[in-house]
Amino acid sequence: MSSTGVSAPPQCLLKPLDFPHKTLMGPGPSNCPPRILAACALPMLGHLHPEFIKIMDEVKEGLQYAFQTQNTWTFVISGTGHGAMEAACVNLLEPGEVALVCQNGIWGQRFADMVDRNGSVAEKLIRPMGQVFNLSEIEEGLKKYNPAILFITHGESSGATAQPLEGLGDLCHRYNCLLLVDSVAALGGVPMYMDKWGIDVLYSGSQKVLSSPPGTSPIAFSPQAREKVLNRKTKVRSYYFDAGELANYWGCDENPRRYHHTAPVSSIYALREGLARLVEMGLEASWKNNRECAEQLWTGVEKLGLELWVPNKEERNPCVTAVKVPEGVNWKDVADYAMKNYRVEISGGLGQLAGKVWRIGIMGYNATPDNIRLVLRALGEALENVRK
Ligand code: PMP
Repeated sequence: MSSTGVSAPPQCLLKPLDFPHKTLMGPGPSNCPPRILAACALPMLGHLHPEFIKIMDEVKEGLQYAFQTQNTWTFVISGTGHGAMEAACVNLLEPGEVALVCQNGIWGQRFADMVDRNGSVAEKLIRPMGQVFNLSEIEEGLKKYNPAILFITHGESSGATAQPLEGLGDLCHRYNCLLLVDSVAALGGVPMYMDKWGIDVLYSGSQKVLSSPPGTSPIAFSPQAREKVLNRKTKVRSYYFDAGELANYWGCDENPRRYHHTAPVSSIYALREGLARLVEMGLEASWKNNRECAEQLWTGVEKLGLELWVPNKEERNPCVTAVKVPEGVNWKDVADYAMKNYRVEISGGLGQLAGKVWRIGIMGYNATPDNIRLVLRALGEALENVRK
């Protein structure tokens, strides 16, 4: 303690930042390419300066392309994927309204929790992790619960599935229900057509296929979803996530932009560069590359004598693969071996799959045949070593 009563400065902060290089082949974040890291290091701009507003507008255009939408309410939540999820929940639902939540992993579970915290009602359709939903069971749920919205996860990162979405928008609209889709762990790696598929609210995250740092989350609202938000009987319970305010700040309405909050300026530069990468590569090429890398991984994993959690190839998420941990093997020993010897991240299971699977992510900048070979080599060698 000094004579002024100030406590001693922490010694750890007087040392240089200790930083290892790793290949992040888990379910996110993925590695950021040098171009995106360089964008983070650019000088600061004021969050309402015209130069920054131009960057925000470029981000909006990039998102409209990534989402395949013309929706004017297309903007970015300052927060991670959970922030966008929470924003969708608090804007779309008034207290007492019903959400039908498709739960085949932890994301449905979490969204239902948010619905409950909002004073709204979560009804659930449940499938085991690793399975997807079909239109007829969803139609039964719509008839039974008459929900205001349906929540479904496009790329399940805990159960490793890719949910087919074609036809779902039309079905929901026949029952006067809006369709909300979580594509945090799929956007850019799996086909997405927001408008053609009739999705009302779609959100994603920056740190997966977009290969930008975590902390910004794209979101878009259809005209129907926008009208529901603008015609609410009660105020949106969160000031920070109020979509009407955010849409104004992002220049999505007729009024001059008002200060709502200070955008995470450097993170928006990085997201702009992540979207520029996607635009330069082209969406179709990005989807194809992800698929090819996933096929390479699936074949390699099976050659190692391992089984994939999702049996049907067409239902697997090409961005996150779940591999069954064989009898007698501790998942963590293998993950630790890969990290120690190859500096490569392989993750464990989440929720009910904890201890039962490894999860391997293939996202954006990391989606290369070389990285797949690296992860397969680390996995194969780790298995031999931990079984000795
Ligand atoms: N939804 C899905 C499908 C996810 O995979 C994740 C992140 N793993 C999230 C939501 C939440 O994102 P975040 O961790 O960025 O809050």
